[in-house]
Amino acid sequence: MDELLLSGYLDGCRDELLATLVDWLRIPSVSADPAHASDVARSAEFCAGLMRDAGLTNVSVLPTGPGGDGTGAPAVYGEWLGAGPQALTVLVYGHHDVQPVDPLDEWEGPPFSPTVSNGVLRARGCSDDKGQVLMQLAAVRGVLERLGGLPVNVKVLVEGEEEVGSPHFEDLLARLGERVACDLVVVSDTTMVAPDVPSTTVGMRGLVAFDISLRTARSDLHSGIWGGTVPNAALVAARLAAALHDDRGRVSIDGFYDDVRELSPEEAGSLAALPFDERAFLDKAGVGYLTGEAGRSAYERTGSRPTAEVVGLHSGYGGPGTKTIVPATANLKLALRLVPDQQPGAVEQAFRAWVAEHVPRGVEVVVQRHGGVAPLVTPVEHPSVRALSRAIEKVWGTAPLFERSGGSGPEEALARALGAPVIFLGVALPEDNFHAPNERLDLSQLWRGVLAAGELLVELGAQEGLVRARPGHPGP
Ligand SMILES: [Zn+2]
Repeated sequence: MDELLLSGYLDGCRDELLATLVDWLRIPSVSADPAHASDVARSAEFCAGLMRDAGLTNVSVLPTGPGGDGTGAPAVYGEWLGAGPQALTVLVYGHHDVQPVDPLDEWEGPPFSPTVSNGVLRARGCSDDKGQVLMQLAAVRGVLERLGGLPVNVKVLVEGEEEVGSPHFEDLLARLGERVACDLVVVSDTTMVAPDVPSTTVGMRGLVAFDISLRTARSDLHSGIWGGTVPNAALVAARLAAALHDDRGRVSIDGFYDDVRELSPEEAGSLAALPFDERAFLDKAGVGYLTGEAGRSAYERTGSRPTAEVVGLHSGYGGPGTKTIVPATANLKLALRLVPDQQPGAVEQAFRAWVAEHVPRGVEVVVQRHGGVAPLVTPVEHPSVRALSRAIEKVWGTAPLFERSGGSGPEEALARALGAPVIFLGVALPEDNFHAPNERLDLSQLWRGVLAAGELLVELGAQEGLVRARPGHPGP
C-alpha cells in the first residue's frame, strides 16, 4: 500500500485520540431524556473544544429550538475556510447526542464507563456517533499538521438532537443560512458491511405515513339483530389492508411505481455483490420467512424499492371474553417508504385516489397524512462518490460497494436546505449495536476511517468540477 497522508500522524496520536474519545463518552448526552439536558450541553462544549484543537475557527455552540430559543439541544459548528472562495466547500455532518441506554441490565458494564478490550471500544455513543465525529476532526487536524492547510474549505456541523428525530434541525439550517452554504455534504454516521468488505451508503429512502379512519354506522350494532345485513368496519379495514399488495408483493396503488428510478447497471451490480446470509437475516429479525416484491433481492427490497407497511389496524372489541357487536369504526395506519424519484405529495394524491376507489360507498372515510420526507440519492457515477471510493480504496485496499439505507434521517434536510449532494463516509459495523446495549466500535475501523477522511479531503481538493457557481459567496 502506498504511504497515506495521515499514516505518520496517526502513529503519533492513537493513544491520545482514544483517551480523548473515552473522555467524551463519559458524558451521558442522552437527548431523549430532559434529565440529561446539562450533559448534552457539556457534550457540546467538549465537541467545541475538539474543533478548536483540530484547528477550526469561528467555533460555536449553537442553541436550538424555535427561533434558536435554547429549548432544543445545542449543536456545534466550526470551520476552516483557508482554501479560498474559489475552492470546494465541504460540510461535514455528525451528531454528539446518544440513544438512551435501557435495558441497562443487558450491558456488560456501565454504558458511560468506556472499556477497551481486543481492539474494541465499548460505550454508549462510541460508534453512533461520537467516534465517527472524532474521526473527521482528527483527520482535519492531521491534514492541517501535515500540509499546513486543507485542500478544500471545511465546515463541521455536529447536531445534538439526531437521536430524537432532529426536530429543530431545519430551523437551525435556515438560521445559519450562508454560514453553512457548501458544495458537498459528507456524513459520518453510517455503517460498512464488514471490515474486509468496505461499503458506502449512497441513498436513503423517504417516508410518508397515513392514518385512515373508517365509520360504517353511527355506533356499534348488535350482531344478532343487525349482523348479516350491515357493513362491518373491521372487515372494511381488513379488506383495505389486504388490497394494499398484489400477489407478487407489489404495492397496488395506481401509479405508485411511476416515478421509481431503476438502479444504474453499475449500482445494481454493486448491490448484487453485497454479501447476504438469508439464515442470519431471518435469525436476526426473529422471523420464519421473508416476504416482499417478487424478483427483487432483500437489499433491493430494503433499499432501492418502495414499500407500504401496515403499522396499525384497530377495530371492534379487544377486551376480555367476547362481545356481540358489528363494529362501527376502524382505524388503519400505514407507513410508505419512498425511493428516488417518488415525492411525498404525488404519492399522497395517488394514495387518496386508491382509498376512495377501495372503500365502499356509504362508508365515511377520513385520510390524514403524517410527515413527509423525500428520498435521497447521490448517483454512484457522481464525481464526489468517485472521490470517496478512491479514498476508501487507498485505505482498505478494495473499492467500496454501494448500499442504500432503508431508513430516513436528517440527511434529506441537509440535501434540500443546502442544495448539495450528500456522500457517506461511515466506518461503524453492523455488529456495533447502534441504539442497543453494548454499543461497540472496532478501533481498527476508527483508525482506517481517520486515514480515509484525510485521503477524502485530498481527493476532493483535486475535483474542481464539484465547485458550484456562487455569486456573493462571502469567502474566508
Ligand atoms: Zn447516529
